[in-house]
Amino acid sequence: NNKHNQRTTRTLGSQTGRVPVGIGRRRLRIVVTGGAGFVGSHLVDKLIDRGDEVIVIDNFFTGRKNNVVHHFGNPRFELIRHDVVEPILLEVDQIYHLACPASPVHYKYNPVKTIKTNVMGTLNMLGLAKRVGARFLLTSTSEVYGDPLEHPQKETYWGNVNPIGERSCYDEGKRTAETLAMDYHRGADVEVRIARIFNTYGPRMCLDDGRVVSNFVAQAIRKLPMTVYGDGKQTRSFQYVSDLVNGLVALMEGEHVGPFNLGNPGEFSMLELAEVVKEVIDSSATIEFRPNTADDPHMRKPDISKAKELLNWEPKISLREGLPHMVSDFQNRILNEDEGKQA
Ligand code: NAD
Ligand code: UDP
Ligand code: UDP
Repeated sequence: NNKHNQRTTRTLGSQTGRVPVGIGRRRLRIVVTGGAGFVGSHLVDKLIDRGDEVIVIDNFFTGRKNNVVHHFGNPRFELIRHDVVEPILLEVDQIYHLACPASPVHYKYNPVKTIKTNVMGTLNMLGLAKRVGARFLLTSTSEVYGDPLEHPQKETYWGNVNPIGERSCYDEGKRTAETLAMDYHRGADVEVRIARIFNTYGPRMCLDDGRVVSNFVAQAIRKLPMTVYGDGKQTRSFQYVSDLVNGLVALMEGEHVGPFNLGNPGEFSMLELAEVVKEVIDSSATIEFRPNTADDPHMRKPDISKAKELLNWEPKISLREGLPHMVSDFQNRILNEDEGKQA
């Protein structure tokens, strides 16, 4: 940690004259790109709670001011409407780079924009990290493993990705972002951290983002059938958002570049997920089969031994424990939406 502290003190301490938070730690100034989105807004809550200054950069493509509105008026919080594809000048200690649509429905909506966000956006944030000596964390994805031929997936697996498919703008975009991060690390001495995040759910997910957990929960609440794509035997591993946020912070604060898988190894088929949603929300909920989308990975489950050993991190919240936290948030928002329609 010494190297990092010396560097940030050198670049910022004297310029800003900011005072220490608590005992032994200086208050940090931290950028969270995509901080008005689902994961980003939970991360912002944690960083603000522990006493740091947070600057959110977001273009509101999928993010919402509502996700961070509770910080408005806090002098340690700042929200900038900005597209990371354009350069930006800031003085900061750490950069959590999350800006990028994450749901297949959103990232396929404008694939060229998705790849620009991943490549040019990541380049700009790495250029910023290099200029000010900030530590940089990339939120990459389990999608870098594509339709994996190894199960569960370890960080050493290079993946099985279609370079020309409908998901490529996201998968290959994130793979390029990882490449850029490693090249800035090796070539320009930027302190980088790479997280490969597996499917994450929780409050504040977009109601209409098309991901499976948000779809099933919203459908069960609205008394609509849960839409199972394909035969429903494909698997995913679902992580509750607070576990992810703890993992991201442990990674940023730790000494290891990664990549690290951050996910919950509990593996569920889509049919099993529908059963759990039924148990938690409404025992009379039904399912309906729909054709699957192109290039859908058949299975996905993280091997998290590396994060356990080197970051001392592992998820704590099971799917059955996590889902109810999401349900009340979804119920409120669906109710407000319905009232809005009637008004
Ligand atoms: P999200 O869509 O809720 O959040 C993404 C945020 O980035 C939004 O606020 C959006 O407005 C913003 N954004 C998008 N393009 C931008 C641009 N060009 N400039 C500025 N802001 C931009 O998604 P999320 O689930 O919170 O995902 C956050 C990050 O985590 C993403 O990088 C995603 O790839 C990664 N990730 C998420 C999951 C998951 O299951 N949630 C899994 C793997 C990886
Ligand atoms: N960049 C930025 N903010 C900064 C520094 C750089 O947005 O504070 C952008 C810069 O405009 C460039 C990218 O980051 O597009 C990469 O910067 P770098 O200095 O590494 O490369 P160069 O500018 O030499 O291409
Ligand atoms: N899926 C589904 N019903 C839905 C939405 C998605 O069965 O309403 C399936 C989808 O085909 C995939 C899995 O759920 O196999 C996870 O999809 P999601 O879009 O949540 O995330 P991905 O892991 O594919 O990025």
